[in-house]
Amino acid sequence: MRILILGGTSEAAELAGALHKRRHKVTTALAGRTQAPRKLPGRVMTGGFGGAEGLAETLNAERFDYLVDATHPFAATISANAVAASGKAGVPLLRLERPPWAEPAGGRWWHAADAAEAAETLPVGSTVLLTIGRQTLAPFLERHDCRFVVRAIEPPEMDLPHGFDLVLARPPFAVQDELTFLKHRGITHLVSKNSGGAQTRAKLEAAFVLKVQVVMIDRPALPPAETVPDVASALEVFDHLPVPERRSFFLPLLRRT
Ligand code: NAP
Repeated sequence: MRILILGGTSEAAELAGALHKRRHKVTTALAGRTQAPRKLPGRVMTGGFGGAEGLAETLNAERFDYLVDATHPFAATISANAVAASGKAGVPLLRLERPPWAEPAGGRWWHAADAAEAAETLPVGSTVLLTIGRQTLAPFLERHDCRFVVRAIEPPEMDLPHGFDLVLARPPFAVQDELTFLKHRGITHLVSKNSGGAQTRAKLEAAFVLKVQVVMIDRPALPPAETVPDVASALEVFDHLPVPERRSFFLPLLRRT
């Protein structure tokens, strides 16, 4: 089966590997934001499609049988495009979306709809750990009355002003290390997207223990799609699908006389 995976997450990479091993023809599409993306099995396409229309054209032109949206839960534009393109091209869509983190009893998270709202909630004088990636930092740059530690995998494109420290680090993070990090930096507030997953959850456990206030940016709403929570469930879907009809088109060419 020819499968297009919209990637950019560890789950997308894992799924690409597993489907490739099952002899599917896997293509992973990446936005091209990361300077050194990990090596992926199968084919890789880098750069956007030109909206839902472009994605639908690619699905048809390259005769994909299935589209998997395994992008990050906050990549809302490409996820909406996937739903629209799947409808336009008549190619089925499966969304692989890890469940959000649940607030622990007594956790008392503050919730924000987006980075701008999260920036507004911070009290004057707070020392804030920002773990929201490097693309939504703008609203925090206006808060000259707080101190920030920005933790990201790759450096932001802009220079960070006075009052901002940059820490480059790649998950997974362990609870003990997060406890040390938060204490050492004197963090009073932690701003996080509700990305979900095990790789970066330790910061929430550490914040709970140290009574660091969590400001959680809630997930954007996505249009409905058939959704599975993990790679194993996605594989189950593919393992139970019938072989697509268009394959038989090629079979006579392979027969020996
Ligand atoms: P986005 O706002 O939803 O998408 C913006 C545009 O980028 C899309 O319209 C599309 O361009 C292109 N694009 C996005 N993902 C793509 C993909 N996998 N393959 C090809 N084109 C893609 O996305 P974003 O939030 O900037 O995230 C970009 C990528 O980073 C995603 O692949 C996501 O999985 C990954 N990521 C995002 C976050 C996050 O917090 N947002 C965190 C970790 C990883 P066209 O309209 O031209 O097709």
